[in-house]
Amino acid sequence: MEQDQTEIIKSEKYKWNLKDLYASIEDWRNSKNNLEKRIDSILEFKDKLGNAADNLCQCLNLYSLLEIEYSKLFSYANQLSDQDTRESLPLAMCQEIDQIGVKLNVAASFIDPEIITIDSAVIGGYLKENENLKDYIHYIDNVRRLKPNTRNTVEEKIVSQAGLMKETAADIYSIFKNSDMLRPMLKLVDGRSVLLDDSAFTLYRSDSNREFRKSVFTEYYTAYKKYERTFGAQLYGQLKKNVFEKNVRNYKSCLESALNANNIPCEVYKNLINCVHDNLSVLHRYLRLRKKILGLAEMHYYDLYAPLVKKADKTYTIDEARNLVVKALAPLGSDYLETINQAFDNRWIDVYAGTGKTPGGYSTDSYDVHPYILMNYKGKYEDVSTLAHELGHAMHSHYSSKNQSFFNAQYPIFLAEVASINNEALLAEEAARESDNPEERLAILVHQLETCRTTLFRQTQFAEFELRIHELAEEGKPLTGQDLSELYLDILKVYYGHDKGIVMIDDLDGIEWASIPHLYYDFYVFQYATSYCAAADISEKIINGEEGMREKYIREFLSSGGSNYAIPTLQRLGIDMTAAAPYDSAFKKMNSLMDETEKILAENLGQSV
Ligand SMILES: [Zn+2]
Repeated sequence: MEQDQTEIIKSEKYKWNLKDLYASIEDWRNSKNNLEKRIDSILEFKDKLGNAADNLCQCLNLYSLLEIEYSKLFSYANQLSDQDTRESLPLAMCQEIDQIGVKLNVAASFIDPEIITIDSAVIGGYLKENENLKDYIHYIDNVRRLKPNTRNTVEEKIVSQAGLMKETAADIYSIFKNSDMLRPMLKLVDGRSVLLDDSAFTLYRSDSNREFRKSVFTEYYTAYKKYERTFGAQLYGQLKKNVFEKNVRNYKSCLESALNANNIPCEVYKNLINCVHDNLSVLHRYLRLRKKILGLAEMHYYDLYAPLVKKADKTYTIDEARNLVVKALAPLGSDYLETINQAFDNRWIDVYAGTGKTPGGYSTDSYDVHPYILMNYKGKYEDVSTLAHELGHAMHSHYSSKNQSFFNAQYPIFLAEVASINNEALLAEEAARESDNPEERLAILVHQLETCRTTLFRQTQFAEFELRIHELAEEGKPLTGQDLSELYLDILKVYYGHDKGIVMIDDLDGIEWASIPHLYYDFYVFQYATSYCAAADISEKIINGEEGMREKYIREFLSSGGSNYAIPTLQRLGIDMTAAAPYDSAFKKMNSLMDETEKILAENLGQSV
């Protein structure tokens, strides 16, 4: 049996076929050299975009072609390297292609500023005159809407000089946290000691031994607490950078400045926080349920990751996973399934872990080839769920690339996670339906509930902290590490029902902010929560067979890629991210998962809850 599995893992069938991108490394190199030679040809259009509709159209055509080839070259080098990160040739290829990327960016850097300066009436005339420009309407609009936030040429030069300092706070944070910060040694239950860095923390915080996981939290956060002042100065540096950008670009707030990059209204962000606040009782119900299952008289922050169910023994071979995923995604229709089957049959997926292979999972697309998926498949339910998730991204890319021009196919991050989380939800529905083993079903339910806690509530909690600290910085209030910890602690206490006695938040927990690198991504994490809710709403409608939903999902959502902004794209599915409805749908779903959990516990495992 083991022998069989080794043979399967080694089999070509489960490795992606990079030959669909380039037949050989030599082929890649020839294409790279060709691209390099062609880059400067785009400069022929410099200072000419405002002269004629054809100039603008030809320039954007050429720019698309260069970008398509570049992204293909980039994917090949990076995917080759990800197969075995120890190999030096692919690493060198990645560096070569990065340099080409910089060259291409520099050469094309005149395009957007020139598009901004063309008179509106002239642009309108261009669009009527040259109908091939229709593929670029959204691109042009996306560039031109930033006009009110763009300074004159001289000022822009100064702003771009200041840009050299932009990454300083984030760089110092990352180097300090990942290299220089002294980490404690953690004593394991078996007497061995390990360095308690971030990955060890993630591994051990979910230990079933309570005393042990308490010491994991205490040791880990005590180490961060020692550097509270330094971490505070780093994060405050980032906030000052954002206040500077808001001011020079005429935004009312740092939030508006960050969200405007993707044309997301601030209302969407604030609506998320309000809806979550109005429904903290749903999180509290879940936390009480956890407390009961864990049999704790008092639950602390260090108990949050404790396993609720025995580690499920059930494993799925990759063929079983494929069958389950195909069954689960059947509500999306035969065309969708046909492509999913192609992904397996035509080797779009690199399935198993191997020495040197990059960890985790991702999906990547080369516009005129097909998407690829990297997995480190181990056969657990979580792995099947990751497979469904990555297939969601891959199918989004597949439909976008098939139906849109290159620029219009690039969907924004706000939409990306919707397609993947939707697939996870459909999978969970099918897996729970198929299983007649209560423990297995319980494991699936708990997996879904935990995803909801960590994606919807926890990310919103980060988003709220981010908003508050930016507002204080905008008011000119200095923020020390200690101030940041106090603010963070206040938010934690509200979310986790400290005053209601649901989860006891200890003072030391307030330092958690210092361990979160996402705070340097500037108003990014809220999108995990919004995507989760949009996906919850879509999957419920698809599962309930709402008329026309499947067709709309494929045609108006997956196939539209990035041809419109995120909020109106979701609106075409009847999902309004400025309203309470998508959130209500997620909370309703979470409540029904808890009803089901309680029912299984009461009926089968003799636990009354
Ligand atoms: Zn994803």
